[in-house]
Amino acid sequence: MDSETSKPSKYERFRIETKPAPHVYQIPNKFDVSAKKLRLAAMLVHEAFEYKLNKEVVLSRPCIYGVFGGRFGGFKPLKHKCVGCMRCVQEYPHIMAVKQSDEYKTLGDSFWTPEAVFTIWNEASTGKIPVKGMGYKGAFGGEGFDGMWTDMSEIVRPTRDGVYGREYISTCVDIGRKPTRVDFGKIDQSPSSVQVPVPIIFDDLPALEFDVWNAVGKAARKLGTFFVTHDQTRGEDYRERMIPIVDDNSLDETLEKRPSIVEYDGERSDLSEKLSDSLQSSIVIARVPLREESGLVACKLAREGVHGLHLYADYHGQDYSEDPKHISESLKEVHQLLVKEGLRDQVTIIASGGITLAEHVPKAIICGADLVGIDTTVLVALQAEFLGETQKRGTYKLRPRKIDPAWGTQRLVNLFGVWHDQLIEILSAMGMRDVRRLRGDIGRSMMDAELREHSFKGIAWATKN
Ligand code: SF4
Repeated sequence: MDSETSKPSKYERFRIETKPAPHVYQIPNKFDVSAKKLRLAAMLVHEAFEYKLNKEVVLSRPCIYGVFGGRFGGFKPLKHKCVGCMRCVQEYPHIMAVKQSDEYKTLGDSFWTPEAVFTIWNEASTGKIPVKGMGYKGAFGGEGFDGMWTDMSEIVRPTRDGVYGREYISTCVDIGRKPTRVDFGKIDQSPSSVQVPVPIIFDDLPALEFDVWNAVGKAARKLGTFFVTHDQTRGEDYRERMIPIVDDNSLDETLEKRPSIVEYDGERSDLSEKLSDSLQSSIVIARVPLREESGLVACKLAREGVHGLHLYADYHGQDYSEDPKHISESLKEVHQLLVKEGLRDQVTIIASGGITLAEHVPKAIICGADLVGIDTTVLVALQAEFLGETQKRGTYKLRPRKIDPAWGTQRLVNLFGVWHDQLIEILSAMGMRDVRRLRGDIGRSMMDAELREHSFKGIAWATKN
């Protein structure tokens, strides 16, 4: 109820409107479909009699996706339509062969699998949750986030939970420092925090294309989220959504523009002081690379009064330790140390590096992040070209293509829409109504390595991936 008008206040359910933004650059076919021509011809003759010379039926069988619906039927299959259901192979194993195409198999790099690239392309293009159904593909588990399973023990009722359910599931998170006590001297000042409707922001990318930044800025505005950049000339038209990374060169400009959130290199305590003194209403976040001593650094910064920590790994999700660990492990360590020191609730943690699939968002939050930043995923959604490894922040080999910013914006909105829907599905499967409750809730996950150790202790081959 609106207290001033005594009318029911307008309730708006947060939804991200998606619409198709088809690929502009041609993508490889995922499957290579081929038929043994003589056997196919013999079968067609046989079926022509059976289906009374109905050309449409004869040429389209047995694929309901229309792969054989072209002018030359199975002699020249429309490979881009194949979804790999394998029905044709099951019905005609002596005629049909379907395998992953060679072009598809070379997509991505050592971290980005062809499947991950395809998933992002299709999510950005259609705005729909990908549906996969090729049966058993081998044991679950793997490295990094793949070695972490989420608790999906709640029964999801579509009318109650999930994307279309009647009960609202909040994906809002706050960025900023939370007061630990009431200060009556400052009772008239609102706490310095900003709310974002999805726990995802765009992290900094050394991409040179201004069109990419315009697309990112516009998408951030549409979605109500933020984008991080070290170059404030990028996405300048969307300044209210910008989180600048401040250094000596950009300090004066930042102080003049007074952004609502600002980031700085966590090792520069001098910058932190200047920012806190001059931008008292801004949220000041320290960027800290994840490595061995990050937990101690995080505690020190939290005690010094920083409002948030942006913890980052490389673009493959490996931290910067001597013996690199996956971001999920190092994030957990930092989070747990902050909890132990009684500091965790005071600061916001943004985690970035290696967040490339929708499921990585809840998994990173379970490991202790409040929200995540995405980086190379943005470029993949915009059909950037893989030229090599994408691991290193400074020299990743992913070349952005020329894009229309409006098309790019829609692709990114679609990506967020699909990830938001999947986050809601996963939260409802956990019986949760607010993503903030998931933060650091390790009990909601199971680790593949731990389960193997627990179940098969002493059996070497069974305890390894
Ligand atoms: S695998 Fe399925 S989709 Fe592909 S050609 Fe065969 S029947 Fe059609």
